[in-house]
Amino acid sequence: MVVGGGPAGATAADDLARAGLSVAMLDRAGRIKPCGGAIPPRAIRDFAIPDHLLKAKITCADIVSPKGRRVPMPVENGFVGMVDRCEFDEWLRQRAAASGAQRLTGEAERLERDADGLAVIAYRSKAGAPARVRARFVILANGARSELARQAIPSQDHPRCVFAYHEIVKAPAPGAPGVTYEATRCDVIYDGRTSPDFYAWIFPHGETASIGTGSARKGFGLRPATAEVRRRMGLDAAETIRREGAPIPMKPLKRWDNGRDVVLAGDTAGVVAPASGEGIYYAMLGGRLAAEAVREALASGDARALATARQRFMKDHGKVFWILGIMQTFWYRNDWTREHFVKMCEDKDVQRLTWESYMNKELVRRDPLAHVKIFFKDMAHLLGLARA
Ligand SMILES: Cc1cc2nc3c(=O)[nH]c(=O)nc-3n(C[C@H](O)[C@H](O)[C@H](O)COP(=O)(O)OP(=O)(O)OC[C@H]3O[C@@H](n4cnc5c(N)ncnc54)[C@H](O)[C@@H]3O)c2cc1C
Repeated sequence: MVVGGGPAGATAADDLARAGLSVAMLDRAGRIKPCGGAIPPRAIRDFAIPDHLLKAKITCADIVSPKGRRVPMPVENGFVGMVDRCEFDEWLRQRAAASGAQRLTGEAERLERDADGLAVIAYRSKAGAPARVRARFVILANGARSELARQAIPSQDHPRCVFAYHEIVKAPAPGAPGVTYEATRCDVIYDGRTSPDFYAWIFPHGETASIGTGSARKGFGLRPATAEVRRRMGLDAAETIRREGAPIPMKPLKRWDNGRDVVLAGDTAGVVAPASGEGIYYAMLGGRLAAEAVREALASGDARALATARQRFMKDHGKVFWILGIMQTFWYRNDWTREHFVKMCEDKDVQRLTWESYMNKELVRRDPLAHVKIFFKDMAHLLGLARA
């Protein structure tokens, strides 16, 4: 049983169904996941995302400092794909169903146990009727702050979250007067006025664009900050199609399984990259690893196999998450550090290594000289020896 049909749940259900297992996927219908929709080529490759789902192909990111300095970071050798989550998530769910997963629509309410100890997901169907599914294994992939996850593994609390808010607006016509916008360019804005501890963004989605910001600071006005970004870009009068927000977890949970029959995936497991807020690729990978762990537990009859989902994920991505966490703590502190951070982005080595690790999700090991150079530049900026 998979609870949640977002990138994590739909990928897990698809993989399990393809492996010939009997799997049901429950998703509550009717809400589009608020999301910037940026995905790296690695996600497109590993999860066979068809080209028609890409609403835009981004070939440059402009990094903007508190003083308004713009540093273009052209994407070499490829592009960043932009998906529309309404269409993307539904396509993933349909793919899982076509592979043989049973689709259920409704809201999961509780994890229960039958008299024989088997897990039961109690849910309310779309029509409001109570229903239940018994399952040998349960993958919980129902997004951040999952109450079911807390029921399954009570020893841990939800991870710290950034709350992200965005507005989907009609994209301006090319060359519209007074508008600083390009259909193939993302803007990433580091400025305490638009986010005191994260960043604000403009991500093109073809006919629309996502403009938003995030912060973990209680009381910070995400709506006025988004209005400020729109004003600066000349997009204050653009037609607003949707306004929405959601929490982004900022730290992988210590445990993803209950040692018996439940394993967490995606935002439910807390796997969004710190500093960037990137979660779609990691959710899909988390779903895949959870499905793999369930298959191994079924084949061996040993529930300890469920722990491999987290072990494998952290082996490949734990280091990057750790580095990004430190980056966020240091560089997103105040406008002085943000100004230095943006200055550092002018460096061609920084640009190359950033893109290579984002696009392919591998720490670039060749070219150790570039790493050393960046380390010393980092230190110079941190200690205030370099001028922003
Ligand atoms: C504003 C914003 C912008 C973002 N921008 C980006 C970006 O540009 N790129 C990127 O990579 N990441 C981005 N992220 C993060 C990304 O959206 C998430 O990390 C990703 O969606 C996680 O996928 P998931 O499948 O784990 O969870 P979700 O996408 O949250 O999916 C959970 C699913 O579970 C269902 N569900 C929830 N509760 C229940 C229940 N009780 N019963 C049944 N079903 C349930 C929901 O309907 C949903 O379909 C952004 C996040 C936010 C909030």
